[in-house]
Amino acid sequence: MNFNRAVIKVGSALVAPTQEGCSGKYTLAIAQFITKCQQQGKEIILVSSGGVAAGRSLIHHGSPELSVSTRKAMSSVGQMQMMANWQRFFDIPCSQILITQHDLEDRKRFISIKKTIEIQLANGVLPIVNENDTVSSADSTVGDNDNLAALVAQVCDADSLFILSDIDGVFTKDPKVNDDAVLIPEIAKITDEIYAMAGTSRNHMATGGMKTKIEAAEKAVEHGINTYIINGTKSEVFTSLLNKVNPGTRFIADKNIITAKKHWLKHTRKSQGKIILDSGAVNALLNKGASLLPAGIKAIENTFKAGESVDLIDHQSNRIIGKGICLYGHHDLRRIMGKHSDDIVTILGHNHGAVVVHRDDMVIW
Ligand code: GLU
Repeated sequence: MNFNRAVIKVGSALVAPTQEGCSGKYTLAIAQFITKCQQQGKEIILVSSGGVAAGRSLIHHGSPELSVSTRKAMSSVGQMQMMANWQRFFDIPCSQILITQHDLEDRKRFISIKKTIEIQLANGVLPIVNENDTVSSADSTVGDNDNLAALVAQVCDADSLFILSDIDGVFTKDPKVNDDAVLIPEIAKITDEIYAMAGTSRNHMATGGMKTKIEAAEKAVEHGINTYIINGTKSEVFTSLLNKVNPGTRFIADKNIITAKKHWLKHTRKSQGKIILDSGAVNALLNKGASLLPAGIKAIENTFKAGESVDLIDHQSNRIIGKGICLYGHHDLRRIMGKHSDDIVTILGHNHGAVVVHRDDMVIW
């Protein structure tokens, strides 16, 4: 294993082992590892959690169940502490980059973040990224820093993503309750079985630390980024990494990487609605590389504007077959669905083109 530009994601368990405040217990070894990487000419971007944990003791909260507003207040004050905790281990300057899902969804902001990181790396600065918890809301949050780190790795064209937490990697069974559980050193393809082994599922309702890590790996490998789940509580893992030995689970980067734009569409932009397709359209999209025409649409769900993303659903299986940027808003689409493209102008009085979702703005699963 080798890497030149890596995103290192450090979880709250490592920044705040007691779930409160900030600690050097594990972060010191991580900082030393980062410094050694930089001395070897490697470029590192850090994604650090711990804002909320660091601010926990500084904001009165009473019950252990925190309200959203209390978490925001904690993260905002804790972010300073967390940054200071990192900066004390480095002679080089650290920069703070706080972003939300909306920043990553907006192509201009995405490029702006990219340029900022590029310039900082060229100037020997260590960028430290976290979600901007104070301003993010339910619809604008990435929600967890594993997925955020995968998106950041994509933004800055990293070749590797290291997800550091307090677990060794992915096991064949839950190692806490199964003595015969074995660590899986390499995963070439992320399947439902892999999610199941990790004690989770692809089901969007499922929760759990490993789920978001595998989701993050799925996002990253598709973009050609090798992803590692590694135990950051063990300082020997850093020696292994420096000796090019994988100490955890490695998800092998996909060689058939999808284009940056399609990756951004699939993983970064949230869908606002659903378009239900008839069998002809499903076949044309899956097997013929076609664009979506109004004639192949059976139904529409939710409200969305022209230019927003929609899920493309097979009416028979009710499964998502892809996602795309819709050139018509839901009002117009309701009127032209099932109709021939030649009739669009007559029906609407205007025309955004014959296709509803262009092939170039579409990603098929
Ligand atoms: N942004 C959160 C924090 O700084 C962490 C989210 C996560 O760890 O997934 O506390």
